[in-house]
Amino acid sequence: MVTPPKQSPATQAITAGRAHCGKSLAPALWASSTWESDGLDDANRRATSIRHNDFYSRYANPTVEQFEHAVAELEGAEAALAFGSGMGAIAATVFALCGTGSHIVAQRQLYAGTLAFLQGPCQRMGIDVTFIDVSTPGAFAEAVIPGRTMLVIAESPSNPRLELADLDELGGIRGPFTLVDSTFATPLGQQPLTHGVDISLHSATKGIAGHNDATLGVIAGDRDLLDDIWAYAVLHGSTPSPFDALNALRGIRTLGVRTRQQNESARSVAVMLADHPMVSVVHYPGLSEHPQHALASLQLLQYGTVLSFEVADRAAAQRFLASVQIARCATSLGGPETLVCHPATTTHASLTLDEQAATGVTDGLIRLSIGLEETVDILADIEQALAAQP
Ligand SMILES: *Cc1c(COP(=O)(O)O)cnc(C)c1O
Repeated sequence: MVTPPKQSPATQAITAGRAHCGKSLAPALWASSTWESDGLDDANRRATSIRHNDFYSRYANPTVEQFEHAVAELEGAEAALAFGSGMGAIAATVFALCGTGSHIVAQRQLYAGTLAFLQGPCQRMGIDVTFIDVSTPGAFAEAVIPGRTMLVIAESPSNPRLELADLDELGGIRGPFTLVDSTFATPLGQQPLTHGVDISLHSATKGIAGHNDATLGVIAGDRDLLDDIWAYAVLHGSTPSPFDALNALRGIRTLGVRTRQQNESARSVAVMLADHPMVSVVHYPGLSEHPQHALASLQLLQYGTVLSFEVADRAAAQRFLASVQIARCATSLGGPETLVCHPATTTHASLTLDEQAATGVTDGLIRLSIGLEETVDILADIEQALAAQP
């Protein structure tokens, strides 16, 4: 038999997750919350099976399962498990794997919701967290307490300054489970599992769904581990909506062309900003002057669709946000519209000034999520907004 050539991930994305649709090319929306059974034995079998599809939608749902299969295929994973949001994925995974007395090692540069979760609910439940600086080599492994550390959490590239965790280093850690929030990379930009990491996590609300019309989280990894997390997730209740899973599955079909276009534009914007007199620093791993560019070239398949940069102060940032015409002032990322946000007053507003300083969220920091508009138009918009005078 002739072995078919290995497909590119963007090609796999076109057909990934096509169980349950028969000859239909588009997935079906299974809105049902419950399924009929054929008597007690059958009902018992469904109620006690792992991730049985035709029982009750908090346990599993065929439309959601198609989305999970698609993500698993793109991540090169045995399985995936979806949640009602990215934070749902984080909270349920942490509580599934940790309990009172457990210890977590986490990167300091994190999505503010993740940081707030680790500092608030986790501490209240008696889970200790050690935060490390991701730019210090070996910091994750050094902070592990043998026998107590249950989970090591990284976010790479990180929000909002695009710092990278060394995935080989994380994958080499033995003992605790390792988790990478890979949202900024999408499954086409990075493959944490191939580096030995246990769990790849995404807020699928972002690039995976890609159209600002779904709120969804997902993790990918070995089936046994995900089944264990599922057993807790059913009780946690951060259940994904089948409608959002359907939208995300449609988004996955175009993930290849979308991320290619957005990456090209992001690179052009980064190069333009790096040369601009109003801009002091550009944070984009694709630039050769980025302090982690060498690591980026080793582990990123695409440098990314998000970048951040610094202008003089809050007033200059405010002027920029008030002057953009194509870019819209909104949080979130990975969608068709170019979005701009000021992390200090929005995504990271809940942090104290000291925490903002520790995570590199300065008053002049601006984050851009590059959309699908023509590159020349995005460039022109950013240039005219930077030229706006007080
Ligand atoms: C948005 C985001 C989250 C949270 O995801 P939600 O879907 O908003 O709950 C987590 N991590 C990163 C890196 C994100 O960008």
